[in-house]
Amino acid sequence: MRSFLKYLSIILITSVLTIVALIQIAPFIIVVPKKDTQEIEINFDQNVTKKELKAVDRKAKNIILLIGDGMGINQITAYRIAKGGPNYTSAFDKFPHTGLIKTHAINTLITDSAASATAFSSGIKTVNGYLGVNKDKQVVKNITEMLHEKGYVTSLIATSEITHATPAAFVVHNESRDNTDQIAEQLFRSNNFISLGGGRDFFIPEDLGGQREDDLDILALIKEEEAYLGSRSDLINFQLDPSKRIFGLFSKEGFIREESEPDLLEMLDFSLEQSNKMISNNCTGFFIMAEGSQIDWEGHENNFDGVYKEMDEFSRVVDRALKFAESNQDTLVIVLSDHETGGLLIETDTWERNPQPRNKMKISWNTAVGLGTHTGTMIPVFAFGPGAENIGGVMDNTDIFFIMEEALGIDNLAERKCL
Ligand SMILES: [Zn+2]
Repeated sequence: MRSFLKYLSIILITSVLTIVALIQIAPFIIVVPKKDTQEIEINFDQNVTKKELKAVDRKAKNIILLIGDGMGINQITAYRIAKGGPNYTSAFDKFPHTGLIKTHAINTLITDSAASATAFSSGIKTVNGYLGVNKDKQVVKNITEMLHEKGYVTSLIATSEITHATPAAFVVHNESRDNTDQIAEQLFRSNNFISLGGGRDFFIPEDLGGQREDDLDILALIKEEEAYLGSRSDLINFQLDPSKRIFGLFSKEGFIREESEPDLLEMLDFSLEQSNKMISNNCTGFFIMAEGSQIDWEGHENNFDGVYKEMDEFSRVVDRALKFAESNQDTLVIVLSDHETGGLLIETDTWERNPQPRNKMKISWNTAVGLGTHTGTMIPVFAFGPGAENIGGVMDNTDIFFIMEEALGIDNLAERKCL
């Protein structure tokens, strides 16, 4: 009898330890309590109604497009409250023009960053995962290519790999965001003038320590033919040679916030400075796309502390861009997101009608499928500068491209060779 009890207790202890170990090491297999969900038949009409735009008389010369990946209206609201309370004025709150954007991809309600950034860069709906190609995989021209022909200096900035979906959709044409070898090569062969972000590994072959499956050493080519920045100090000490395009590849993959990496604001400031030098060097104007890439990643993790830090960095960039545009009245600033990530909620924690006053914000996430996914909610857009008057009401994500085109008057700009 005593040995039976002994075995029973060993079995019990082992089971408890196994369960504890599973909870520790594999939270992804823990089944979350099922939330109420419902499926509704919808009519997925693929024709987008294009917003009617007002003719912009005073054209913009430059555009700064700031994308907070995964930044929904609740991320912006929760950031404001966490930063300084519900009455705090965040950088987002200072814009005179706001609107809402529908984010769906061509055949799915929930978009990914590739389809969404292609809508912004090229004005078309496409399939999730596609970069700069339509649903039939045909190449569509993007705004950086159009502007290059008009003598523009263009910049792409991200805290993810520079080959990641959002920046890539502004420069490459590929049927899969996962074709990183091809994306890095297309970026290298493109006319984009400044590329700043992570993802150095995708420019180096595997046998030289990188992640390229072919043997093309693009990093060596960059160092030979163009200007290469490998660290924050390279960025700070940079001397422009207008004949060389600039590649800042500050980390192996996405930024991990090391001292050798610049932050988003330093990269924006760098681009503004070099772009202005290029304009004095006979370029027409500049286009800068800067992405707070990791707001999305923290949303996937359902990590609000992480979202807050990423939003704080992104909001400093928003603030700087707005101040730049206020003192240079020729720049259109558009701040938006591609989709919401994680189903972030700001909830009450009581059914009481008149709860006690409290100074806590209760954050929760929609974890109905067990992981933070993208959601299909509309996302907000903020704008300032010439052409910002077309931002307003409910828009489609493809409208953003046409609003930028109208603001600059791209069709009427003369062809010009600057780079
Ligand atoms: Zn995502």
